[in-house]
Formats: sequence, structure tokens, C-alpha cells
Amino acid sequence: MQLRNRVGMPNSVAEQGTVTVGRHVFGTDFVIIAGPCAVESEEQLLESAHAVKHAGAQMLRGGAFKPRTTPHSFQGLGERGLDILKLARAETGLPIVTEVMDARQLESVLDCADILQVGSRNMQNFTLLKELGRVDRPVLLKRGMSATLDEWLGAAEYILAGGNRRVILCERGIRTFGTSTRNTLDLGIVPLAKERSSLPVIVDPSHATGRTDLVIPMSLAAVAAGADGLLVEVHPDPPHALCDRDQQITPQAFGELVRRVRDLVAFLGNGDATSEHAR
Ligand code: PEP
Ligand code: MN
Repeated sequence: MQLRNRVGMPNSVAEQGTVTVGRHVFGTDFVIIAGPCAVESEEQLLESAHAVKHAGAQMLRGGAFKPRTTPHSFQGLGERGLDILKLARAETGLPIVTEVMDARQLESVLDCADILQVGSRNMQNFTLLKELGRVDRPVLLKRGMSATLDEWLGAAEYILAGGNRRVILCERGIRTFGTSTRNTLDLGIVPLAKERSSLPVIVDPSHATGRTDLVIPMSLAAVAAGADGLLVEVHPDPPHALCDRDQQITPQAFGELVRRVRDLVAFLGNGDATSEHAR
């Protein structure tokens, strides 16, 4: 396939590179999505949802279908997890971001998600990407852990070419020889992806570092690099989380993150961080 020079540009449907979800506009507002790695129970998810909303998140994340390295790890609550996410949206009004791992799950995930997340491991699941090209729902496309910029934009192009123009890119760290962090956050790709496409680009500092102590510094760095938003893992009781416990921050730490990120966004002027948009 011939890659277009600027992915998402040739069609005016791309609307100057913005993706609107509810009253939030990726590419104009600085959008913070937060919540636990996985939906573990009704109590855990509702507590997380209220906490991240209170701290200033605009959207709630949480996996119902989890792509785990071994089949013996917690796989997510599946359909029950989706029902709990719907409950959280009803209670808080926060739009829901959740992963769809397989085209066969699409119908149920569409019934719940305001944004369909494609995980790193599925970035080149072309069957899934083609299906997502046919739906009328924004897609958050995470970068594959070893994907080049061209491969990432090529994957986005599968969705765009199918007619779904609402794609948001998410840098989540790549595999390198380094062992001090879970992955290596590739911040240079943020301005590059924006230069080469018209798509909003957000950053996930949680999977990129795998370490709670690096989530705030790398969130600030992402703002400085020109990111359009963040995807942050927040858990009410990180030591007892069923997955990714080393990287999920507490609601209290998340509150600090939001304050510092908002200040920096306002200082740099690279997004609307006013409380009206941020809340
Ligand atoms: C996630 O965000 O829940 C996740 C599994 O991340 P990634 O696909 O980037 O590993
Ligand atoms: Mn996770």
C-alpha cells in the first residue's frame, strides 16, 4: 500500500485534525483519560471513576478484555466488565475508553465504549482495523511496541481508508535494550506523528515506564513534546491491583498530576486547559 504523505489529511472529514468525543475535542483541548488497567469489580471501578472525575479527568479508561502475556493471568471480566463500565458512565457522565481485542467482540464493546481502544499488541491486527474502519466510533490506536512511525501510520490508514476518520494515536513506549523502565517512552514520535498526519496524538506514561514514580515527570514531558492528551492508569489500591500494579498511581497522585499538567498546558498554551473544558 502506498502511504499517503500525511495520513488523515486528504479528506476534509479529518476536520483540521480534531476528534470530538462528547464535549471534548482532541487536538484542541488537552484531554486526560484515566482509570484502572482493568475493571476488577463494580466497587473498584466505581470508586476509580468517581476519584478520577473528582481529580479532573475528562474520560474513564478500564479494560474488560485484557491482553495478558500468559493465559494464567487475569483476563478481565469480559461482558460483565462492560456492564460495569456502563454503570460508571451513568453515574459519572464520563465517556468510556475500553479495549476491543478481536473483531468478534466489536458488537458488545460498541454497546459500551465512547472510544474503542486498540492495544499495542493488536496494532497490526488488520482484520480488526478493517472492521473499525466501518464503525461510527472514535478509535484510540496505541503504537505497537516495536512499530516504526510508518507502520503505525499505516495501521491508522486502514481505519481511515475504511471511512472512519476519527482516529487518535497513542504513544505507549517501545521495546529497547533498556531495562530500567518497562518500555522506553519515545517522545520524539509525538511531534513527528503530528507532522506526518492530521491525527491527534496522546501519550500513555503508565505503560511507557511501568513505574509510578515516572508517571508525573513523563506526563509533563509529554505536554512539552506537544501531546494532545494523556492516558493514565489510576487505581484506588495499587498494591492489590490484579494487573500492572507497579505503574498504577493512586487517585491522590493523579490529583497532583492533573494540577501540574494543567499548569504546564496553560503555560505553554498548547491546549485548552481551562476548567470549563477540563472538567
Ligand atoms: C492498556 O492500555 O490497557 C494496555 C494493555 O496497554 P498496551 O496495549 O499499550 O500494552
Ligand atoms: Mn495496564
